[in-house]
Amino acid sequence: MNTPTYLDFGATTPIDKRVLSVMLPHLEKTFGNPSSLHSWGQSAERILDESRRIMAELLGALPSEIIFTSCGSESDNLALRGGAIARREAGGFNRILISPLEHPAISNTARQLAQLNGFEIETLPVDNTGRILLEEMESRLGSDVALVSVMAANNEIGTLNPVQEIGALCQEHKIPFHSDAVQYGAHFPLDVTKLPVDLVSLGAHKFYGPKGIGALYVRSGTPLVPVQTGGSQEFGLRAATENVPLIAGMAKAFQLVQEEGPRRIQHLTPLRDEIIRYVLKNIPGSQLTGADPDSRLPNHASFVFEGLDGNLLIQVLDSEGFACSSGSACKTGDPKPSSVLTHLGYTPEWALGSLRVTLGKDTTRAEVSRFLEILPDCVQRVRETAQ
Ligand SMILES: *Cc1c(COP(=O)(O)O)cnc(C)c1O
Repeated sequence: MNTPTYLDFGATTPIDKRVLSVMLPHLEKTFGNPSSLHSWGQSAERILDESRRIMAELLGALPSEIIFTSCGSESDNLALRGGAIARREAGGFNRILISPLEHPAISNTARQLAQLNGFEIETLPVDNTGRILLEEMESRLGSDVALVSVMAANNEIGTLNPVQEIGALCQEHKIPFHSDAVQYGAHFPLDVTKLPVDLVSLGAHKFYGPKGIGALYVRSGTPLVPVQTGGSQEFGLRAATENVPLIAGMAKAFQLVQEEGPRRIQHLTPLRDEIIRYVLKNIPGSQLTGADPDSRLPNHASFVFEGLDGNLLIQVLDSEGFACSSGSACKTGDPKPSSVLTHLGYTPEWALGSLRVTLGKDTTRAEVSRFLEILPDCVQRVRETAQ
């Protein structure tokens, strides 16, 4: 029996050993509060400043434009809620435009902003791979728009959005633009000197950093009010005593993405393409969801299988030693198709049978081969159970 194989790196990644070795001394010794004036505080502040400088430099940003948060979700909350409220305070802007395929950290935050704060939420048109349609989008950029939020890469179907073009349109209309780059930034470089974005969310645990730490890039001058109020940490935008070990770990992990990104992509892309080719050829009633290989995340293969319970397939694969995920958020017994797949027009007959395979930087060809050897039979078994 082979050791179990993790193929769910889109959900989370293990901490890289090099990241851990940066964090450990700080967990043990750097316990001072960075706001304290004594030497304990000052040594913690030095690590905080240095980590912020590293993040900023890698993004082409200023250190004062980096806000550390507790996760990607919190970065999304701060950008959307803090950005929308600030814009309404400043000029009465009341409409928020988002992609219809956003992570719940955006879609549910938008829903609450509509219910509790009276904002008008509009979802932008997308094509059948989930990409924003630019012309349709531009026609909606009226003078009452508070904020546009479009994810750079979709977690469920892997599709990349034309962030450069979306940002350029927003800039033309003088509307702040937020992009959730929690998935995108785990693979690709982001250079805010070239990319017309005002707010960008990142989360460390998607790129071999620790959980419980994220960052929001905030371009200087972008209207934003804090969501978590209290002390004046993080330039007054996020109150809380800073978690220095996690922040240092995030900076190290992000540095490794930039250094090793091209090599990781080179390793991942052919493995991903092999999975896509094999599945479509060898499993009847299968479809790729999301974009073609040239505009999707390099580690991401996602499918729907007709007439199959996706959650049951995950369980069967798990019993065979492979960890994958389905698009459906609900448990077996109460199946509900994912809103992303439903929005893209998949009927429940297809959408309930979703599978997401996300590879890691250290995934081997042998692991992929073993996975593909057992997958068709697992699909077949699950289909037979349904009858
Ligand atoms: C994982 C993820 C999030 C949430 O990040 P957390 O750090 O888990 O809160 C937000 N957006 C996308 C696209 C993600 O993949």
